[in-house]
Amino acid sequence: MDRKDIYAEELSALIQYNTVSPCCELDMDRIDAFHIKLREMFPNIFKLGDVKEFDGSYLIRIAGKDSAMLPCMLMSHHDVVEALGNWKYPPFSGTIADGRVWGRGAIDNKAMFWAIMRTVDDYIAQGNRTDADLYIVTTCNEENQGGGSVAIAEYLKNNGIRFRFILDEGSMIVRDLMPCMTGLFAMIGVTEKSICDLKFIARGAGGHASVPPKNNPLARLAAFINEVETNDIYSSYITDTESEMLRRMAPYMTGKMKDLCQNISGFQDELIKELDINNASFAAMTRTTIAFTMANGSNASNVIPTEAYVIANMRCAKHISIDESLDTIAGIARKHDVDMEVLNRGIDNAVTDYHSPEFKLIENAVNKVFPGVITVPVLLNGGTDSRNFSCVCSNIMRFTAIVATPEQERTEHGIDEFIEIDSLPLLYDFIKEVLMSI
Ligand SMILES: [Zn+2]
Repeated sequence: MDRKDIYAEELSALIQYNTVSPCCELDMDRIDAFHIKLREMFPNIFKLGDVKEFDGSYLIRIAGKDSAMLPCMLMSHHDVVEALGNWKYPPFSGTIADGRVWGRGAIDNKAMFWAIMRTVDDYIAQGNRTDADLYIVTTCNEENQGGGSVAIAEYLKNNGIRFRFILDEGSMIVRDLMPCMTGLFAMIGVTEKSICDLKFIARGAGGHASVPPKNNPLARLAAFINEVETNDIYSSYITDTESEMLRRMAPYMTGKMKDLCQNISGFQDELIKELDINNASFAAMTRTTIAFTMANGSNASNVIPTEAYVIANMRCAKHISIDESLDTIAGIARKHDVDMEVLNRGIDNAVTDYHSPEFKLIENAVNKVFPGVITVPVLLNGGTDSRNFSCVCSNIMRFTAIVATPEQERTEHGIDEFIEIDSLPLLYDFIKEVLMSI
């Protein structure tokens, strides 16, 4: 049996465990069943490692040759989001077909989780040890507020354990990101946006819908949402991270974008306009974004609400402070007599230096396993568990070494998630390269 087929079988087996991390309480029986499987599949890690469990999340330390060296950490999560809708293959079947492994978690994040565990288990089974101590962190609630990573980061901080670098899930290797570009780019996340959850509440006297007053709470919320949606309420700015990303991509572009990316400081505004046209994800990196996601009014169709609310997810740009982003939206809410409550205030994430030896280490591993791929630093619009680890590490990199198409990326958290079987040996080899440099 080819090694890629063995790997596919293993990943398929992990996908078959439903580890959905719901918005309410976690089903610990499911997580426990999954953990029993892990001990069977990766016996050497559990035999040799110092394993600490934090309510279903793991912190595992495997001693290296030199305890004086700063340790390194490989991170992932083993929970998944719900699998709604009609799937080609049942989402927890782990079906292997068409050269792919199908199912919830195939990309996010069981493949990376599997690769870390399989590579480390094989590595230590062969008698190898890293120079520095190696820590593996894998959480069971990343998709739901990340309580496991908070607890683990706190434990590490309280025990004075710092890290040379942390590698967590993140952006992938993607092709031809804009019509004017050709090439394969390894997008190595050096920071991520700060995510805030906000509740906007409008209040009123309520009453019967038969004699409706103007400006009831729902109407004011609608006016507020409309103002936010139809205006550019936040400034856009290309920070050093996006500049470096575009500068490194410029040689693989043609036309106007190439010219602009070669002289970013002179053409900030023009370039942002082009990004808006060519790549929504790049454009989102340059500004604070707001998405209204949940809403509630009264409980009956003929009752005017005394209180109505909408919930929004805000992702803060790096060139302004979180407070500035919050103040701007609160000011607009006030104009419509709407109050704002901050349900969850994001962490101000540091930016990893893309000139550092640690960034270079990840780049070298990419270059060895994926020759010809261009490495670029990137700001993540999404969030990862590693945001909680800034207190113990200043070189956090968020990168999943999988070559993915934009369509495939969209299946993450969507329908018909899959990974190409051919991706698995490469993911393994990438983690092995990283291990050999620790
Ligand atoms: Zn994930």
